[in-house]
Amino acid sequence: MTSPRKLHVKSFGCQMNVYDSFRMADTLAPEGFAETERPEDADLVILNTCHIREKATDKVYSELGYLRLLKEQAAAEGRRFTVAVAGCVAQAEGREIIRRAKTVDLVVGPQSYHRLPDLIARAEAGERVIDTEFPAEDKFDVLKSPRREATRKRGVSAFVTVQEGCDKFCTFCVVPYTRGVEVSRPVEKIFAEVARLADAGVREVTLIGQNVNAYHGEGADGRPWTLGRLLHRIAEVPGIARLRYTTSHPCDMDGSLIAAHRDLPALMPLLHLPVQSGSDRILAAMNRRHTRADYLAIIAQARATRPDIAFTSDFIVGFPGESEDDFGATLSLVDEVGYSSAYTFKFSARPGTPAADLGDQVPEDVKSERLQRLQRTIDRHYARFRARCVGRTFDVLFERKGRYPGQLAGRSPYLLPVQVMAPASMIGEIAPVTITEVSANSLFGVLAADGVGSRPRALAQAGA
Ligand code: SAM
Ligand code: SF4
Repeated sequence: MTSPRKLHVKSFGCQMNVYDSFRMADTLAPEGFAETERPEDADLVILNTCHIREKATDKVYSELGYLRLLKEQAAAEGRRFTVAVAGCVAQAEGREIIRRAKTVDLVVGPQSYHRLPDLIARAEAGERVIDTEFPAEDKFDVLKSPRREATRKRGVSAFVTVQEGCDKFCTFCVVPYTRGVEVSRPVEKIFAEVARLADAGVREVTLIGQNVNAYHGEGADGRPWTLGRLLHRIAEVPGIARLRYTTSHPCDMDGSLIAAHRDLPALMPLLHLPVQSGSDRILAAMNRRHTRADYLAIIAQARATRPDIAFTSDFIVGFPGESEDDFGATLSLVDEVGYSSAYTFKFSARPGTPAADLGDQVPEDVKSERLQRLQRTIDRHYARFRARCVGRTFDVLFERKGRYPGQLAGRSPYLLPVQVMAPASMIGEIAPVTITEVSANSLFGVLAADGVGSRPRALAQAGA
């Protein structure tokens, strides 16, 4: 029997890439590829790339520098070492990669992953292959489903892609060009995938898409269903205790989705709702199609529907033409909403997007200074949010062993990591935990059943 060939997939960027990387590994498993965590041990390395900002693209080229050394070493040992570049950089810069990086044998865009076995065979036969087509067939029908043993290894929480691509054309963003038009998967195919994951021990599913709440997949009745309806259907899968979805666009937050936060106990009270800027002038220049007031109205409606809901967001600083006043409006929006946390980015001019050609680009040092100020404001809210957790009891989903013996690591409904002394047999279970302490990045607590009689520190300090 021949030993399996080794595959290393390295993911950059968003959760969609993490999901795609798993599906690539699942598709290559029947071809005799077993996953390895070390590129040094691999026969095939796939870099699953992100093109969203220039920095993300640069990382790929620096990674290729290291892979060139591994390839030279393999050649000296008489071994074959195949290098593939997948993802959005592959889609956007396929020919340029092949020209610039001689190490690369195969370039494959996100819509062609189901053709990987054939493409890799061609690359191994000596051809330098590029496949960045948007084929007519549905790749989800052809990509292999997660295998039970693979799923077990990957834990109790999983991503499931329900929607791909985007038709919004925000002026800064490459997604509509690299991932193509918005496509939604049918409801029952998603249901079947979630049921398979639940069968393999998954308890929490995050439905993902570049614009997930624009979901309009076909339901069993042959009509397009909203994300709200899809969530109701997925909540029926036995064993699935927690549901999340990301990333949403404010314009697609419809009533059925907001109501689902009230009506579905499994839907977690955390909404990632990127706003990018607090200034109406900049929102218009970004083609975001909503105003600050529209956004705040959605936040208010969601809070009225589900009072314990928390919000996270994405922000871009230094969009072309952003003045100090515009930036001030972003800071004041952060204070007004009181996010639990947020991602912040400096505007990065992406070739081919309208914003890249706008005049009045903001100097790099101004962008850096604004980024720091925004980050400090968000950190303040993040610290407050964590401090408010002390003394409260949350359901925690235990995911894995913690850093210390006897400890388990899990997640609160708000996705904050929680460390608790608990038996390993509780991995995959959800149990109430009373939070006793917070550190910079974690919460610490006791199983609520064990904690009876012990006064949480913050309450004791407050003299309550
Ligand atoms: N669909 C989501 C939305 O509508 O907000 C965002 C998806 S995008 C993959 C993730 C984040 O990357 C965006 O929310 C934005 O903050 C950031 N981003 C996208 N293009 C960028 C650019 N050119 N420069 C800086 N940040 C960018
Ligand atoms: Fe990009 Fe999101 Fe805008 Fe679509 S909605 S173009 S993915 S930022």
